[in-house]
Amino acid sequence: MRAMNPFENALQQLDRAAQVGKINTDVLARMRHAEREVHVSIPITMDDGKLRIFEGYRVQHSGARGPYKGGIRFHPDTNIDEVRALALWMSMKCAVADIPMGGGKGGITVTPKELSKAELERLARGWVQRMHYVLGPKVDVPAPDVNTNPEIIGWMADEYAKISGDTTGAAFTGKPLGKGGSEGRGAATGMGGFYTFDALREQLGIPASATVAIQGMGNVGGHAASIFEEHAHHIVALSDSRGGIYQKDGLDVAAVLAHKEKNGSLKDFPGAEQISNEQLLELPVDVLIPAALENQITKDNADRIQAKIIVELANGPTTTDADDILFGKNTTVVPDILANAGGVIVSTFEWEQNLKGEHWSEQDVLGKLKNILETQSQLIAKRALELKTDMRRAAFVVALERIQEKL
Ligand code: GLU
Repeated sequence: MRAMNPFENALQQLDRAAQVGKINTDVLARMRHAEREVHVSIPITMDDGKLRIFEGYRVQHSGARGPYKGGIRFHPDTNIDEVRALALWMSMKCAVADIPMGGGKGGITVTPKELSKAELERLARGWVQRMHYVLGPKVDVPAPDVNTNPEIIGWMADEYAKISGDTTGAAFTGKPLGKGGSEGRGAATGMGGFYTFDALREQLGIPASATVAIQGMGNVGGHAASIFEEHAHHIVALSDSRGGIYQKDGLDVAAVLAHKEKNGSLKDFPGAEQISNEQLLELPVDVLIPAALENQITKDNADRIQAKIIVELANGPTTTDADDILFGKNTTVVPDILANAGGVIVSTFEWEQNLKGEHWSEQDVLGKLKNILETQSQLIAKRALELKTDMRRAAFVVALERIQEKL
């Protein structure tokens, strides 16, 4: 399913938006290329004393609107093209959210489950030792992404502080709360997805108590499940990388999370039907939330999707062919660069708090997050109607116009 190159998909999205939005061709040409790409090797002594070399990346796509900003992914399939695509999407996402950040992304090609905690810490610190020249609060501010978490970011921030002498903590976001992290950052992407959905729900005719299927149970999918459930929606299906479960009357999210924590998978969850990740996407639900990896909704399955609205909490889950099929059958796709912007928005609040030496309450953080996402969701939905196009193209147009002003 992930065979399609995500960077090709990102470039097609750019071109398609430019066709509907009268985007200056010079701006478009610049957006097709990252400003800087760094590829490093990271030598790590494993616990058995043997040396292993890992490949690490940082792509700095556009600094037009502020410091490069974006997560670091640890995944066996991570490669330069994936990181390029993710960096381009970050530039668009930060512009859609109208936060003072550019776009970047990083990664390491690794299967993190195969590493001990001590090895993982050496790898995280090793990435910073190789990359610190191109990082910093006013230069590039990384954060968590797939398979990275506050603990890993805490090690990275510590390594950066030791090397650079910068004690603000503002060179990394998504840090643990006690180490300069922000209230609300852990749940921010899921929370932001909910605010975006809720801002559009009524106009799309989605019931106040909708059925929801979520692909992925990492930090994003797990929090989204709890948040949608708290707001009276029924989570009927959930999955992890190995497969999923379906219960048409609704799952008890806390019980599913506890089962996964205890058993390491969703297998044998009582009372639910076992399904594959592919089947989950095609269930008869109101809302589908892809919250895992790229290229899940393609021309091969888009016509079988039954959800009325797809809220993209993963980055790049839908190909452009699939976008056309979905638009043709009146399925609303709330694009990743809007739907999952909650993470980077609260990251930016964390950066601001670190720079000012402040600590904001969770209520303040969530209030500001909601405000931004409600405003931008409505603006982009309106723009899509005016341009007679889908929300992805409208969001790209809005982002490109905002970037253009700063170039
Ligand atoms: N990795 C997240 C994303 O894809 C968050 C990035 C950040 O907080 O900088 O948006």
